[in-house]
Amino acid sequence: MYDTHMHTRFSTDSTMSMEDAVRRAGELGLGIIITEHMDLNYPEPQAFIFNVDEYFDAYQPCRNDNVLLGIEIGMRGETEPDNRRIVEGHSFDYVIGSIHIVDGVDIYQESFYQGRTKQDVYSRYFSAMLDCVTKYDWIDSLGHIDYIARYARFQDVDIYLDEFREPLEKILGLLASRNKAMEINTRRLGDKKALEALIPIYRRFKELGGQFVTIGSDAHNPKDIGKNFEQAMSLAQICNLKPVFFRERRMEYWKEGV
Ligand SMILES: [Zn+2]
Ligand SMILES: [Zn+2]
Repeated sequence: MYDTHMHTRFSTDSTMSMEDAVRRAGELGLGIIITEHMDLNYPEPQAFIFNVDEYFDAYQPCRNDNVLLGIEIGMRGETEPDNRRIVEGHSFDYVIGSIHIVDGVDIYQESFYQGRTKQDVYSRYFSAMLDCVTKYDWIDSLGHIDYIARYARFQDVDIYLDEFREPLEKILGLLASRNKAMEINTRRLGDKKALEALIPIYRRFKELGGQFVTIGSDAHNPKDIGKNFEQAMSLAQICNLKPVFFRERRMEYWKEGV
């Protein structure tokens, strides 16, 4: 089994060392993929970007069957060519495409929600996601579809298929038609309500022809590695989706029986 999403010291918001990540993963019997943040044109200069050559120089010696080297691309329409060049120019094992910024604002920020309705904000989020998923046809997996629900300032932050059916169907259908994976990001899966809202979305992905999911904790410290994996496995099972990971950009199945 692989935890396919985590951040170490090359990510602006993490100080985790490779040694600590490897040690914790070893205790849990998990393989890991490191996926550092690359958000080109981030509103704050020099934040959420990293020197890819330094990353490979530092971590290449640690690379083995259980430790793979990936990247989490913060997708924005205008940075697609530069992101593509970065990915094509290096030997990543795995590429996550994520939405962190909408209309030039990090959706982590409170100002993104002030004076706006959930319908308005979430519609913009999904519209940006659809635009990017359309352009970024070279990613391996769509990261945390429920990212906005981590930070939104509404009473009910969950994403309901019925509430945002039109953009969601287009996003899921596009990923399915390209045989892409969808990530099950485990960060929010300890919350039963969040988990239940996600089931119809992943089930719809399957109905539209989707087959594969990646499971990732998005850990920024050792204790979060492998968190809520049981819930993620059961979500995959309920929706009849196959957990996979990527090595040298090629999809591999988890071994039978785990
Ligand atoms: Zn992310
Ligand atoms: Zn992440």
